[in-house]
Amino acid sequence: MFAVRRWAIWALPARLLGPVLLVEVTSVALIVLGLAGHAGPTPAQLQIAGVLCLLGIAHTEVAVGVERVRRRVTDGNHVDLSSVWTFAAAVALPPSYAALVAVIVHCHLWWRAWRLRVPLYKQTFTSATVVLACIASATVLQHSGGGTEIGSNHQLWALGLALLAYTTVNSCLVAGAIAVSSPEANLTKVFAPWDENVLEIATLCLGALAAIALGVNPWLVLLVLPPLLVLHRAVLVRQLEEAASTDGKTGLLNAAAWHAQAERALRRASRHDGAKGVLVLDLDHFKSVNDTYGHLAGDQVLAAVAAALRTEVRDRDLVGRFGGEEFVVLLGGLEGSGTAELEAVGERIRRRVANLRVEIPTPDGPLTVAGLTVSVGAALSPTEGADLRTLLQIADAALYTAKRAGRNVVRMGLAVPAQHTTQHAGRLPTAAGEPPAAAG
Ligand code: GH3
Ligand code: MG
Ligand code: MG
Repeated sequence: MFAVRRWAIWALPARLLGPVLLVEVTSVALIVLGLAGHAGPTPAQLQIAGVLCLLGIAHTEVAVGVERVRRRVTDGNHVDLSSVWTFAAAVALPPSYAALVAVIVHCHLWWRAWRLRVPLYKQTFTSATVVLACIASATVLQHSGGGTEIGSNHQLWALGLALLAYTTVNSCLVAGAIAVSSPEANLTKVFAPWDENVLEIATLCLGALAAIALGVNPWLVLLVLPPLLVLHRAVLVRQLEEAASTDGKTGLLNAAAWHAQAERALRRASRHDGAKGVLVLDLDHFKSVNDTYGHLAGDQVLAAVAAALRTEVRDRDLVGRFGGEEFVVLLGGLEGSGTAELEAVGERIRRRVANLRVEIPTPDGPLTVAGLTVSVGAALSPTEGADLRTLLQIADAALYTAKRAGRNVVRMGLAVPAQHTTQHAGRLPTAAGEPPAAAG
């Protein structure tokens, strides 16, 4: 800890290190300047700060199990429900005192729930963004006439403005760091999914209510704890659902989830007209990738192919990993009968995989895996079949044709002859979620 030169933060790329240090130094400087320019806390302010710290700590202690599981099942940033207490502090206290409450609540939360998964340098940055968010929102309140005095008569619009300042400062700083560290990240990754942002707003609203309750009677703030704990559990359930439907290696839908969602999408399609298409993709001679570079490199190639697949289709198209080196895509809203568009998408994916160069870091320097190819089989709904099982059979038979034709090609399906259905039925899932056996 005291070997400053060995701190993990110095390993950050220079383009990220500068902004991160700037945010951290600014937050410390603003706290110090704020404290220096203040006459010292009144007993009432001390009481409020103490109550909020204690409630923040109690919340973490009660929800520590939930919070640890949340960290385990998601790798990215997630909305941190402690902002109930930090935003309440921003509403009820002067800026630097609110920032100190945020530091105390965050340090305890990190120590108890996140320490094993979140390195200290990342936590320091996260806490610095919360400190700046607290200072921004408390300052907005002070200048919007409401003040941050306990029991002051906050106007709804001033609270709304403070809430907006808090979430804007916090999200933009975190989004900036993500955008700089992973330039390939899309908007959802940079600014978190929509439902995470809604959760953040809900948490801040609870924080505003907690601050108002504190102004009336400090005991009333205890009423915020039960809904907060229920919300915390509900969020965990949603995250577990997401984790259970995701393939760990590629981040795509797993076979069970793809099946369930594709069935639903096809049912919807039968009500609203429009062609849909299924693509079944199987990497060619993938065994030789493993044999040449090892299974770990093979896993990274699978992840790179999955990412390439995702970028070649629209967000609303369903992309899944069916098992092994097989992928499946359901495309909706195809033009006309859909034949030309489905074939074009299959061809685009085939070309993309053929041009893919996967850089894999190894102790002996980066290794580049290139020359990958994929065979693709396609089936169209409703022309070739309305139900998922039939479509998968048709696409699967087309995939076999593609393999027999020499691989690295796209083949459109034809209605399945009865004999073929029997011959290959064993390859197809017999029930939702059961992955097919590997082609070979
Ligand atoms: P073909 O062109 O006929 O599809 O040949 P292939 O080598 O791709 O097919 P085969 O079915 O013979 O082999 C599939 C290989 O995929 C075998 C297995 O080692 C590899 N594989 C399956 N799942 C994984 C995985 O999760 N990670 C890695 N690294 N390899 C996997
Ligand atoms: Mg294969
Ligand atoms: Mg296979």
